[in-house]
Amino acid sequence: MFDKILIANRGEIALRILRAAKELGVATVAVHSTADKDAMHVRLADESVCIGPPSARESYLNIPALLAACEITGADAIHPGYGFLSENARFAEICSDHNIAFIGPKAEHIRIMGDKIEAKRTARRLGIPCVPGSDGGLTDDDEAMRVARDIGFPVLVKAAAGGGGRGMKVARTAEDLSAALSMARSEAKAAFGDDAVYLEKYLEKPRHIEIQVLGDGRGAAVHLGERDCSLQRRHQKVLEESPSPALNGPQRSEIGEIVARAMRELKYLGVGTVEFLYENGQFFFIEMNTRIQVEHPVTEMITGIDLINEQIRIAAGAPLAMTQDDIHFSGHAIECRVNAEHPETFRPSPGRIAYYHPPGGLGVRVDSAVYQGYNIPPNYDSLVGKLIVHGRTRTEALMRLRRALDEFIVDGIDTTLPLFRELVRNADVQNGDYDIHWLERFLAAGGMGPPGA
Ligand code: ADP
Repeated sequence: MFDKILIANRGEIALRILRAAKELGVATVAVHSTADKDAMHVRLADESVCIGPPSARESYLNIPALLAACEITGADAIHPGYGFLSENARFAEICSDHNIAFIGPKAEHIRIMGDKIEAKRTARRLGIPCVPGSDGGLTDDDEAMRVARDIGFPVLVKAAAGGGGRGMKVARTAEDLSAALSMARSEAKAAFGDDAVYLEKYLEKPRHIEIQVLGDGRGAAVHLGERDCSLQRRHQKVLEESPSPALNGPQRSEIGEIVARAMRELKYLGVGTVEFLYENGQFFFIEMNTRIQVEHPVTEMITGIDLINEQIRIAAGAPLAMTQDDIHFSGHAIECRVNAEHPETFRPSPGRIAYYHPPGGLGVRVDSAVYQGYNIPPNYDSLVGKLIVHGRTRTEALMRLRRALDEFIVDGIDTTLPLFRELVRNADVQNGDYDIHWLERFLAAGGMGPPGA
């Protein structure tokens, strides 16, 4: 096992990693920007190092500063969390060049899955079903038109380097295609410095269902069921649940086994998520995330498995603690991502939390790094915390969520809590009857109350 883990992240995920490390008896080092000197992860870690000014580029993404912090503190491993450097293959290599363990997959797998064209090619080779589309990148508009006519409109132009829903444009007809291509290319160039794009069939009413995997890097791998993340705004997940209301046991085992088999063949190491769109009973691969995800607690609640603990143990060379037969799914879990944003306009609302009262009780978990009096800096993402509930049935989980949301008080800033209070009372949400466009339709129709009210 490692002696000391440096956590190259902030916010709730830094705290989450710290908790897992402490339970493993491993010392922790927090790093922080000057904007985060009062952050909870800094207070709870055994040691902390300031690595730069507020700008993420100069702090949380500053590789020399992170390596220096390891050197100063004697940390022998780095946990990157999600976002920041978590899917940077070069960073993983640099860590191992400096004899620091990178708590994540092999660099080659991060690289393959970070290029969505390469990822789809690999998925197809491993027998994972994919969205119909171009085989690789598109060299010119004529080729794009040929592919689009072949798969049929509407099509989606996607950035090879994509992430966070950026660089994605729908073309409903042949007339739209060239504008969609140039918009996606310039957005991708600006966001990722890479304008390579590819085409996919645009699915009209899919659900987003993803499979959590765990591999030992030597050919053993298991799946931990699915998460349904169909409630999205601007391609960003808002609420996640497991099991998916759309799947039954045999369907779960079938797709889970396809993914686990692929991960065994790849000799995948650590935690990962294989994301699918699901429509008319069929799964279509869209991408794989080679890191821990924001919504991982949903899986932890129904399996009882601590994913970060597994991730750390595997990175330290331990075998998987379980076989597929040891994994049992119990009850239902739902997660709400509570953001510091206005619940209707979604305008970011950083600032001081004047009063904070998180909910509690049986089956309620709050993963957050905020506290009363904490000042949310404007420099980073707007996640205030995650409210996760677990119940024996979906109905029980929903009632518990409703109760917990009503208890949750965050005063002084705007949060998206009021949105979740509406959602949990909505008939479609209660019936599990939603696709990836449902939330946008709900918001456009003034779901949060009459427009202007
Ligand atoms: P990113 O890496 O930017 O998050 P993804 O490929 O994971 O991009 O897609 C994000 C979201 O965009 C999906 O969850 C889904 O809502 C939507 N999306 C992606 N591909 C398609 C598609 N072929 N058809 C319809 N919607 C899609």
